[in-house]
Amino acid sequence: MLQLPNWLLSPWRTFRRRRLLAQPFPDQWSPFLAQLPFYRQLAPTCQERLRRDLRVVVAEWRWEGCGGLEVDDEMRVVIAATACLLLLGLDHDYYANVSTVLVYPSGWRRPGSLDGAGMAEPDRHVLGEAWREGPVVLAWDAARHGAFDPKDGHNLVLHEFAHKLDLIDGRADGRPPLRARADAAPWREAMQREFDALSKAADRGRPTLLDHYGATNPAEFFAVATECFFERGAALAARHPSLYAELQRFYGQDPARRGGK
Ligand SMILES: [Zn+2]
Repeated sequence: MLQLPNWLLSPWRTFRRRRLLAQPFPDQWSPFLAQLPFYRQLAPTCQERLRRDLRVVVAEWRWEGCGGLEVDDEMRVVIAATACLLLLGLDHDYYANVSTVLVYPSGWRRPGSLDGAGMAEPDRHVLGEAWREGPVVLAWDAARHGAFDPKDGHNLVLHEFAHKLDLIDGRADGRPPLRARADAAPWREAMQREFDALSKAADRGRPTLLDHYGATNPAEFFAVATECFFERGAALAARHPSLYAELQRFYGQDPARRGGK
């Protein structure tokens, strides 16, 4: 296959995207979008931007069905639209670190392993994964459920693609590339404080707005906080205002004002 040199790749990509977006939006995709509750809550200009972004990623990502699943238009539209919700206020390059999306019908079992010390890591039931330099892997039933229940605070696709934003700089540290250098200190301070508070609550078994899974490490905290920000924005703003403010500044969106519990 012809490999374009880097200096040609970017103009070629821009040309290809422009040509794609000059075509009308595929009619058969509209019903899939229209049924998504989060899409219906967006302002018309945001809906338009989301439609453009999702067309680019649907065209550029390689979609592979696993476990006997055949990826169809509904899966592509629902997954891509949910992923692109994160991009609406960002200056972005369409998840340049995502080239392949693998879709399983439902969760799968990840066999346990032995580490260097000979200790076994137990088998795990997995619904999604975002590899550092690799694909995003999703269970379709969980991805679909997350997209259609926009207020329960759980959304697998938002979670995994938040990991991909975090990984843009190559580090899974819960800090995606921020808009400005000056944002780093308040981000670090708010995230650390909130992570510590969640860890303490999780240790004590206290119920929290943020899922206890966020206490696993800072990368999971960012992914879990992203789910909550988009799905339960008003509650997050009320109970964790500084966390909400940092996510609002980063994502350039204010979901608390779009409704949500
Ligand atoms: Zn995660």
